[in-house]
Amino acid sequence: MKIPVARKRIGLLGGTFDPIHVGHLALARAAQQALPLDEVRFLPTGHSWQKQGAATAAEHRLAMTRLAVGDTPGWTVDTREIDRAGATYTVDTLRELREALGPDLALVLLLGSDQLRNLATWHRYRELLQHAHIAATQRGPHRLAEFDPLVEVLVATHGCDALPDAPAGAIVFFRMPPVPVSATVLREALARGERPAELLPAPVLDYIDRHHLYQDGAARG
Ligand code: ATP
Repeated sequence: MKIPVARKRIGLLGGTFDPIHVGHLALARAAQQALPLDEVRFLPTGHSWQKQGAATAAEHRLAMTRLAVGDTPGWTVDTREIDRAGATYTVDTLRELREALGPDLALVLLLGSDQLRNLATWHRYRELLQHAHIAATQRGPHRLAEFDPLVEVLVATHGCDALPDAPAGAIVFFRMPPVPVSATVLREALARGERPAELLPAPVLDYIDRHHLYQDGAARG
């Protein structure tokens, strides 16, 4: 893929990935092509302070993420949030990545609009843009008009038509074909004994079968 600027761009896709599904992969693919990006890093969350209830054990979520990423060119898995003890805050992850990777390359936090909508509830959310750009895509019915006024202010101040040649600081939007799926709906379907093969990468569905995940809640917690 030809990148029009010399500055390397790394997209960061954080998620519970419980389980990782075709919506996550479509988002990564669309961002990689539209922005464009040199790399997309998948970051499974450790202990997410925002999600209700216990997530499936990190070991399983990480294994499924690795299977879904496979050897796709430009895609990698970063375990730092899982390795970190205690609550996961995105702002800490971005600061850590910035320290590790240096000041020059561009970091781009990738979000569905459901996440952007609630951004002002995130820990030290204003600091996110000191370390990274934010690139958001439409997911479901969450349109900018219904966003938290604090997020609207952030978008009005930092919004750009395209990613600038800078390491951080802009908010941009990119398009992806809608993929109406969520991990919650998938967990419910699997618990009912369904096999939603079109919504999960094949190796992930195999892993779920082999480890009997989402069937009786045994792997959660
Ligand atoms: P859950 O249903 O458990 O809340 P989820 O399906 O929303 O899970 P997450 O792991 O929380 O998945 O999502 C990680 C990121 O991927 C978020 O930024 C989210 O907006 C985005 N995302 C998830 N599913 C889709 C989808 N179908 N289309 C676009 N973006 C998505």
